[in-house]
Amino acid sequence: MVKIDEKMENVWTTVVGRNPGEPEFHQAVREVLGSIGPVLTKHPDLAEHKMLERICEPERQIIFRVPWIDDSGTVQINRGFRVEFNSVLGPYKGGLRFHPSVNLGIVKFLGFEQTFKNALTMMPIGGGKGGADFDPKGRSDTEIMRFCQSFMTELYRHLGEYTDVPAGDIGVGSREIGYLFGQYKRITNRYESGVLTGKGLNWGGALVRTEATGYGAAFFAQEMLRVRGDSLDGKTCVVSGSGNVAIFAVEKFHQLGGTTVACSDSEGYVVDEAGIDLDLLKEIKLDERGRICEYAERRPSAKFVAGGSIWDVPCEVAAPCATQNELNGRDAGVLVRNGVVAVVEGANMPATPEAVETFISNGVAFAPGKAANAGGVATSALEMQQNASRDSWTFEYTEQRLAKIMAGIHEACYDTADEYGSPGNYVVGANIVGFLRVSQAMTALGLI
Ligand code: NAP
Repeated sequence: MVKIDEKMENVWTTVVGRNPGEPEFHQAVREVLGSIGPVLTKHPDLAEHKMLERICEPERQIIFRVPWIDDSGTVQINRGFRVEFNSVLGPYKGGLRFHPSVNLGIVKFLGFEQTFKNALTMMPIGGGKGGADFDPKGRSDTEIMRFCQSFMTELYRHLGEYTDVPAGDIGVGSREIGYLFGQYKRITNRYESGVLTGKGLNWGGALVRTEATGYGAAFFAQEMLRVRGDSLDGKTCVVSGSGNVAIFAVEKFHQLGGTTVACSDSEGYVVDEAGIDLDLLKEIKLDERGRICEYAERRPSAKFVAGGSIWDVPCEVAAPCATQNELNGRDAGVLVRNGVVAVVEGANMPATPEAVETFISNGVAFAPGKAANAGGVATSALEMQQNASRDSWTFEYTEQRLAKIMAGIHEACYDTADEYGSPGNYVVGANIVGFLRVSQAMTALGLI
């Protein structure tokens, strides 16, 4: 568990008491509380305004039934969620996750993280998150469509380009966003492009949104190495997952001179010392929706390891891009012994508190997800800007904006960590920058 100041203990105990059975949410809150002590010493007014207590309480939590009929004619019932966490900086913004593990605690942890992340981007977006305990794996296209339509039939009343703007996350890509947007448009009779982001390019989407989270994480890694007088050039990288974030992290690592030698899915990992063949990976994962073991079947230089830990593969740069708590203290110890120099969280909270502590105490440059994977939501905000002005920007221009945003987030975290006495600690930097931006705006808007 992350160590926290004595004065934070009360806040922590209250959060745990009010939100029983939500360990991921407790973990995310504790991580932030572990960084905020020096801020309250410097700004005692924030404690008087009960800012921490207010920030830990979502503005609104919506839970709803999602009935649908599968291809065999059987009625299925899932549970849908949307947690509208904080709208002080703009409309709620954050993805939808379709995965059997989704529950209120997971959505709350993600919404809480999202609030800080969105503040870090400096864009006018609040924090929210949602999803359902629906498992899209093995479902036909028409089943996915029926599920999305039923999900949106309830959720639409809570959305709007000035209210709440979801995007994708695990299990929700452009196919699902298409079905969700289609149903929203049908129910409301409005072509309200700005109500969802991650749209297809010919119906309101923006270039670079697909690549943005992975690219942004690689840009962040490059910045962390730059301030240490190093770069990604020639570095061996390991990237967990093989979904949206992972694929485009691999792509940008390669463009910046690194070589990714391993990636994974929930069934195991592949090691390819010749470097991951991106075209093949995309073909299997994006076109065929296949499994990672198929990569090894088609690539002679690769081998597949069922189960096990991808973090046993030696590397200098590690990018966990799959899911929460996928990299534990043991894994971190192995990575450190194998000479890792930078760890960048493409996923949300993939490293456990013990793993983070191991990295930081061993001088590894460690980027928390709320900073490192903020490129996705930042580019979603750029998509909203393009929708609002009915414009579309080029790939080059949008990528430059993304790179600049990531460099800005890096600089803010780096400088703030220094100012508050924890040089090089991006966890402290990101938490303090996010907390200050949100809490100062909350103070300005009164007790709401
Ligand atoms: P995705 O396209 O659905 O891919 C998820 C990948 O992670 C898949 O390869 C999946 O393998 C693997 N995975 C999921 N659960 C796993 C588990 N329990 N153990 C091992 N592997 C697992 O999702 P994504 O959009 O890339 O999101 C990945 C992470 O990035 C999530 O933490 C998400 O919250 C975060 N994130 C995403 C965005 C975005 O723009 N998409 C932005 C910021 C943060 P299987 O196919 O076998 O399940």
